[in-house]
Amino acid sequence: MQTIGMLGGMSWESTALYYRSINELVRQALGGLHSAKIVMHSVDFHTIEALQRAAQWDQAGALLGQAAQGLQQAGADFIIICTNTMHRVAPQISHHIDIPILHLADATAARLKQAGFDSVGLLGTAYTMEQDFYIQRIEAQGIQVVVPSSAERDEVSRIIFSELCVGVVSTSSRHYYVQVIESMGRQGVQAVIQGCTEIALLVQPRHTHMPLFDTTLIHAEEAVKRALA
Ligand code: GLU
Repeated sequence: MQTIGMLGGMSWESTALYYRSINELVRQALGGLHSAKIVMHSVDFHTIEALQRAAQWDQAGALLGQAAQGLQQAGADFIIICTNTMHRVAPQISHHIDIPILHLADATAARLKQAGFDSVGLLGTAYTMEQDFYIQRIEAQGIQVVVPSSAERDEVSRIIFSELCVGVVSTSSRHYYVQVIESMGRQGVQAVIQGCTEIALLVQPRHTHMPLFDTTLIHAEEAVKRALA
């Protein structure tokens, strides 16, 4: 079994989901007392969020690159960046290491293609919904990506940082998300990417008829597949 290097803490609320899913999937695959081989660097999210807000992406990339280097030295065979947003600096991180990064947007695009979807909605932080790094990567696979309106993006992003990343899961925010998801459905998208690793804490498939692609679970599944290959 290969060792998974997790860049976590962004936020730890979703890193905990990753940790649990990865270990559950290894137990399902191998049985008994098997569990995943993981090394993790969990950052102080306060620092990362401040760099995001100040658009100091190079600095954030250097910080995470050094952390990834530590994971490689600690024996990781490959890296997963446990946040959609910080894939913004995946290229910078990769400069610090010789081991591969299992890219979350690629894993998600592959699942969408497998399911036969070519028009999807995207929910995530404002950075993920408004900058190119994520959408372009999905669209390069022939999948059209639609984002909510500007006002909706602000609210979706606010709920991530002010609630989900600090462990607050509220019914009113769930209703808001479901409303946005279903309004994208009425605009013609076939499915919605939960393109922020905390969103699965708020919205699960039972809350809407729209097909959802939970990036945390997809990433965890792909990491386990690779570790056990
Ligand atoms: N975990 C989130 C994501 O998947 C947001 C936190 C962050 O800005 O990294 O994008």
